[in-house]
Order: sequence, then C-alpha cells, then structure tokens
Amino acid sequence: MKQQLVLLYQLQQTDSQTESDEAELSGLDNGETLAGELEAEETTLSEWKDQLSAAQAELHDKQLQLQGTEDDRQNKWDQTYGGMISDPKELSALERKIEELDRRKDKLEEDIIMLLDEVEALQKQVDQKQADVERISDRLSKVRQHFEQRSVELVTEMEQLTQRRSELEAQIKPGLLDDYKHTRQHNANVAVAVAINRACSACHTAVASSVLGELQQATRVVRCESCRRILVLDEWL
Ligand SMILES: [Zn+2]
Repeated sequence: MKQQLVLLYQLQQTDSQTESDEAELSGLDNGETLAGELEAEETTLSEWKDQLSAAQAELHDKQLQLQGTEDDRQNKWDQTYGGMISDPKELSALERKIEELDRRKDKLEEDIIMLLDEVEALQKQVDQKQADVERISDRLSKVRQHFEQRSVELVTEMEQLTQRRSELEAQIKPGLLDDYKHTRQHNANVAVAVAINRACSACHTAVASSVLGELQQATRVVRCESCRRILVLDEWL
C-alpha cells in the first residue's frame, strides 16, 4: 500500500505541474497588446513625419520666394537709383513697386521665422516618437522571443509529464485511481496530502497519533480527519 500511495503522490505532482504549466502557457504574453501599441505609435510617427515634410517644403518654398523678392527688389532699386530713368512717373511707379516688395519681404520673413519654429518643434516631436517606437519595438521582440522560447519549454515539459503520468497510472490500482480522481475533484485539485510534523500539509490540521499510527502501518488508505484528503508520510517521499 505504501508504494501505491507514493505513486499516487507522484501522480498528483505530475497533475499539479501540468496544471501549472497549462496556466502559465495560456497566460504567456505573445506580444499582441504591445504590437497594437507599436502600430499606433508608428501611425502617429508617420503622420508627424508627413507634417514635418510639409512644413519643410513650405519653408523651402518661402525661402525661394524671399530670394526672388530680394532679387526683384534689387533690380528695381538699381533701375530707380541707377540714373538711367528720368521720367518722374516711371520713377514713382518703381518706388511704389519697391515698397510693395519690401512689404512682401517682411511678410515672407515673418512666415519663415514661424515655419522655422514649427519645423524645429515637429523635428523634436518626430525624434521623440522615433525613440518611443524603437523602444517599444525592442521590447516587443524580447516579449516575442520569450514567448517562443517559454512556449516550447512548456509544451516539451507537458509532453514529458503526460508520458510520466501514463507510466504512473499504469502502476496504480484502478480503485485507488478512482478514489484519487474523486477526492481531487472535491478538494481544490489536491487529493493527496503529506503528514509533516504531525500535521496535514493541505489543511494544516494536526493529525491524531492514532491516525499517524495507522498511516505508518500502511495497510489501507488513511485520510486526514479534517479535509478528508488521502494522507502519505513525509518519510516515504
Ligand atoms: Zn487535511
């Protein structure tokens, strides 16, 4: 009987380990949440990069316009004050044109200053978001790597446990196995408890000397008087 009870205890250990592996496997993070987060961050990054490109293009355009305006103004100025034109009407028209070009130049310079600020701010945003994306991407590859590795380990271990379980099951008497299954169902998946220091390892209630004595003889299944689990002795294991 003692040998049978030890086998039963070992069977319970394989069952408990299998349960724990199953729970770990189903709870393993496959990176799905993080992948969603990464995708959202990448979308934002891409939008901000587009905004930055648009602002840079506009800045470039304004700078070209400014250059053109400055060249135009220089031409008009040269014409006005170069002494080639003497018609007062024509001179006055050129002076008005120069004033108009000055106003346009002022406006372009203001726009350029604002765009420079905008480009700088957007560049900063893009750099920060880029760093966020890289950080999340690194984390995701670590999570995925751990998921792959741990999944394989757990599946392999569970295969070994299944093998071990059938070996044990084959050696245990059917009546005792049924008792085990029944007791497990009604006792939070723990059917076999160990009597350690005169107490039940499952419910921690003291085990009476008479019960211990009977257990030592190992002629039949002895149960904890409190939780009704099947008892084995610490020293047998
Ligand atoms: Zn107990």
